[in-house]
Amino acid sequence: MTWHILGAGSLGSLWATRLARAGLPVRLILRNRRRLEAYRQAGGLTLIEAGHAQQYAIAAELPQTDTPIQRLLLACKAYGAQDAVTSIATRLAPGAELLLLQNGLGSQDEVAQRLPGQRCLFVSSTEGAFRPADFQVEFAGHGHNWLGDPGNPQPPTWLNELQRAGIAHQWSPDILARLWRKLALNCAINPLTVLHDCRNGGLAEHPAEVATLCAELAELLQRCGQPAAAEDLLEEVRRVIHATAANYSSMHQDVAQGRRTEISYLLGYACAAAQRHQLHLPHLQHLQQRLLGHLQARGLPVN
Ligand code: NAP
Repeated sequence: MTWHILGAGSLGSLWATRLARAGLPVRLILRNRRRLEAYRQAGGLTLIEAGHAQQYAIAAELPQTDTPIQRLLLACKAYGAQDAVTSIATRLAPGAELLLLQNGLGSQDEVAQRLPGQRCLFVSSTEGAFRPADFQVEFAGHGHNWLGDPGNPQPPTWLNELQRAGIAHQWSPDILARLWRKLALNCAINPLTVLHDCRNGGLAEHPAEVATLCAELAELLQRCGQPAAAEDLLEEVRRVIHATAANYSSMHQDVAQGRRTEISYLLGYACAAAQRHQLHLPHLQHLQQRLLGHLQARGLPVN
């Protein structure tokens, strides 16, 4: 079964190169003719791991190619997921499976609602990768991938292919709890690193602000039916701040480089959920307003 990979960015390339290295059939789907031509010029995707670079001449095609897709890894940003999936929707075979790699919450439901006949698996990844150049990916942080399907606790039969490719993973019967927990960690850390313009470790100087946000986030998780994700949230946030003290958060990096953030699927999603539940979380809402103001002042999209 071919792995179609839509989005040859950091994570898409990291998955594509490892699957191809294991001898599994992989095809990249690139946005348009211009990107396809640039890819052909590059000669393939290059994976840089532990200082060693290796190029893989993985086949690539356009979204409108007419061969059917049985398995798709959707590897774009959360805000691009719907449009990306629309571009290949007519190619999806009945019963096709999609792996949704997007961070945060909200984009998965937007995609799943568009595709009622297909199985959507949600992925939560702690792997880290970036693109030093076009069609090159550097594997910067080893981590783990949790996969799950909120509508069906049965794992798919092909997880052994990930094993073969050396992609660290685990089937998670409660993937939503995992995604909520990650979203809460992100909401407690990332926006503050942007507003204080600091590395994650810099938040150790703002313990009261972090604690207040965690209390509100825990209340939100409880109200949203995610009590497990609320457990000891502040302790884990403090641990992450300490363990990743030297890193800039992904949102900080996006803002610093003038890139669109995934705010609507992180803090925006949390605030919308609070509103839906008529939960008054003043600090979280104030944080959102400050962050939106900050983005607007820099000419960055607020969604
Ligand atoms: P990225 O490097 O920006 O890659 C996204 C890719 O998707 C780009 O190559 C983009 O193409 C492509 N794309 C977008 N729309 C498309 C379309 N309609 N058709 C074809 N290609 C399309 O993003 P990323 O860092 O891999 O992140 C992907 C998701 O994983 C995000 O939700 C992120 O938060 C999450 N995540 C990332 C990491 C990480 O370390 N990078 C870790 C954990 C989670 P162009 O190049 O043509 O723009």
